[in-house]
Amino acid sequence: MPQARAFSVALVGLDGQPVEVEAAIGGGLPRTVLVGLPDTALYEARDRCKAAAASSGLEWPNSLVTINLSPASLPKAGSHYDIAILAAVLAAAGVTRGERLDDTVLVGEVGLDGRVRAVRGVLPAMLAAVTSGFTRAIVPASMAHEAQLVEGVEIIGVHTVRDLVGVLDGGPVPVPEAPPSSEEPADPTPPDLLDVAGQVDARWALEVAAAGRHHIWLAGPPGVGKTMLAERLPGLLPELGTAESLEVSAIHSLAGRRLDGLVARPPYAAPHHSTSMASLVGGGPRLVTPGLISVAHRGVLFLDEAAEFPAKVLDALRTPLELGAVTIGRSQVQARFPADFQLVVASNPCPCGMASTPGAACTCTPMAIRRYSERLSGPIRDRVDITQVLRPIRKTFLAEAVHSAESTAVVADRVRAARERQAYRLGGTGWSTNSAVRGSYLRNQLPLPDGLEHLDTAVSRGRLSARGVDRVLRLAWTVADLGGRDRPSADDLMTALSMRRGEPATTGRVA
Ligand SMILES: [Zn+2]
Repeated sequence: MPQARAFSVALVGLDGQPVEVEAAIGGGLPRTVLVGLPDTALYEARDRCKAAAASSGLEWPNSLVTINLSPASLPKAGSHYDIAILAAVLAAAGVTRGERLDDTVLVGEVGLDGRVRAVRGVLPAMLAAVTSGFTRAIVPASMAHEAQLVEGVEIIGVHTVRDLVGVLDGGPVPVPEAPPSSEEPADPTPPDLLDVAGQVDARWALEVAAAGRHHIWLAGPPGVGKTMLAERLPGLLPELGTAESLEVSAIHSLAGRRLDGLVARPPYAAPHHSTSMASLVGGGPRLVTPGLISVAHRGVLFLDEAAEFPAKVLDALRTPLELGAVTIGRSQVQARFPADFQLVVASNPCPCGMASTPGAACTCTPMAIRRYSERLSGPIRDRVDITQVLRPIRKTFLAEAVHSAESTAVVADRVRAARERQAYRLGGTGWSTNSAVRGSYLRNQLPLPDGLEHLDTAVSRGRLSARGVDRVLRLAWTVADLGGRDRPSADDLMTALSMRRGEPATTGRVA
């Protein structure tokens, strides 16, 4: 009985494992059967592959074709097994010589017309291929540039099933497709802090947030620059390391984002409050794909008008904020995606947005205002280290404010120096930024700041919770790191306390 095999990759979350596709021909009436825990899309694969072969002028065997995908225990979702199935069947049927099928991984979907179509997750699939020792990969021509971002595997892009058969016959490699036109780069330079007029306190709060990787809350009426500030946070953060860059790129590949190169900068995602749960946390009808909270992994997640988000959506952020990852369950498979993002939350002071604007008339009832702020309490507010209230700036101060503004590059340098101090101090602990340090370590292993009596006073007056104390300590360390001090001073502690409570800064970098 003629047989042949080809290899593809199964992706569960970001983890890929090789899948062997075996085809055997003969032994029964003409039909094609698939075995080995395929999902619905794979049953469609059978029909797609037959149609694609026919429209490419290739003969599908006119007898029993048995296609087995193994290991059988591995759930196999998605449509990217098509070209591996075609390769195995056509090689078993003798339509192609099937050269080097043993060291080649095949990833791609076919159209009924015989074209090979793009699929998600090519980058993590290639990472898995290299890990498993494959030396060659055949992918859709339109995805070849993404596949080539992974070193250690020869990439061949195919446009059509005919191209595929040509390559498997040992023929010439098809002409590569031009890289996607980059009128808009996929990984653009973030906008500059120079553009933010005034808001000296808020700029300082953003700098502290960047330096210690603290979640930050920006409260204030519409138009004061909350979004502008949030968009500028990624530019203040250090670039991603090599491993981080590969990890983030793999997530973006699975999320269906275009990759011009490996993602080098901390990403930024700003979901609208009407965004569906699946697009925010991940999911999808077939292949489980990451949501925006994972797209923001190692970068910034900005929730504008946070009180407008449905309560169940805000609640869904609780676990990722705790664990830095999200698990999406299915009947057969649990896909886990990293989701270690830095949160920037923006809200208006009240539903109409005017409550804190001097001279403006707020039309909200006290009840409405209370309900509005309660929506954000709990899962999110608990996690936020810095609260910054923004007020409209007066026009007369604007010119001067623009003049005195610092650029992203200047602030990013201070952030980098503060990060280095943290990395040095926390070396060997597994933490690299102040925001991540456990409370007991802060209180018992690190020197305590001066002026701790201020914290005692705040706690005894009920203005600060026990959990809040740890957050203030973390912040005080970041303020000290930015100032180049080996231990937080009483001033650093007071600055941290006011940042935690959302009061105007009493000390610190007030210009
Ligand atoms: Zn109002």
